[in-house]
Amino acid sequence: MDSNKFMAFHDEYVMGTYGRYPVVLTEGKGSVLKDTDGKEYIDFTSGIGVNSLGIANDSWIDAVTSQLKRVQHISNYYYSDMSAKLAEKLVSLSKMKKVFFGNSGAEANEGAIKLARKYSFDKYGKGRSVIISLSKSFHGRTLTTLSATGQPIFHNYFFPFMEGFRFVDLNDTEQLKKEVEENKDICAFLCEPIQGESGVNIMSDEYIKAVKDICSENDILLIFDEVQTGIARTGKVFAYEHFGVSPDILTLAKGLGGGLPIGAFLCNEKLENTLSAGTHGSTFGGNPVSCAGAIEVMNTVSDGKFLDEVTQKGEYIKNKIKSFNADIISEIRGRGLMIGIQIKGVSKEYAKKCIDDGLLILTAGDDVIRFLPPLNITYSEIDRGLDILKNIL
Ligand code: PLP
Repeated sequence: MDSNKFMAFHDEYVMGTYGRYPVVLTEGKGSVLKDTDGKEYIDFTSGIGVNSLGIANDSWIDAVTSQLKRVQHISNYYYSDMSAKLAEKLVSLSKMKKVFFGNSGAEANEGAIKLARKYSFDKYGKGRSVIISLSKSFHGRTLTTLSATGQPIFHNYFFPFMEGFRFVDLNDTEQLKKEVEENKDICAFLCEPIQGESGVNIMSDEYIKAVKDICSENDILLIFDEVQTGIARTGKVFAYEHFGVSPDILTLAKGLGGGLPIGAFLCNEKLENTLSAGTHGSTFGGNPVSCAGAIEVMNTVSDGKFLDEVTQKGEYIKNKIKSFNADIISEIRGRGLMIGIQIKGVSKEYAKKCIDDGLLILTAGDDVIRFLPPLNITYSEIDRGLDILKNIL
């Protein structure tokens, strides 16, 4: 079937919830994807930060297929060796205490919110359940995580939204102080250390430290949503390591499974016994195949040399883009291989032009081009992609 026919066939049966680009991607290797006509695309997206080790990575395929041949799924009524091994790895890398496994970023954040509210309920009783998050944040598409998302454009159509969410502005310490002084109903502060979807906006060191202090002084739980920034994306296994501030709850998904659906939330000692049997669950949570893929990802990306390379490649990309001296660019920001380019133009238009020339990029808002390439992208793949971008810019 040619690609136009395939797209029409697809659209006849699949709901039109995504503004898809007219490309049918069917195979690939590393950071190169191919469409149905065999045209190649350099991948600066990794499926929105998911394919940490690129397409069809040999070791990852071995890990996943050997688990597939053992058992694909057992229920959470029984113990699984794979989820235990992955949990041990995540706990030792994060210095957190316990993990819960689910399937996605939104589910991880939902669980984190439940955990925070249960902790507060157990200790203080009803009425202290508000979650403060940041304007311009993005935490997912379920009703609760949309309620926690600080972008009015998402607070539409699906009323009623969940109660118990308020917002403050990124990097405005005074506003947060005032909010906490004036209200005694807050149980947690939820934030992305670097906001991804709204444009690669970085929390300042001072702000994140002030947030930690305010939270500690008031027994407000600090939740870091590292669904996008986690799993070595920024050159550290977890982005909070850049700031020297650790959360009470950490949420992960996207890059964790290297392409298989898995999400997780982790907590520190304070919360390790808060969720007891029957208070939370997920049928697919801790699926052995997803865990096998995730173990391979974590073993690879937690290596010091690998992490240094993520940082170096990120710097290489940013420096090369700076050297284009393109008038259209007003700022380049980000850490490691999470890069945002603020442009004086419409980012989607540039993404379309890039596709025509064989490069896949992401956008973040109307005027930011975003890169989340596979973490093991090679310099020659980077150069191929940047040559395409240079011509377009
Ligand atoms: N949190 C952050 C920071 C994200 O970037 C995303 C997705 O983009 C989510 C949560 C939601 O993740 P998912 O789409 O896996 O539910």
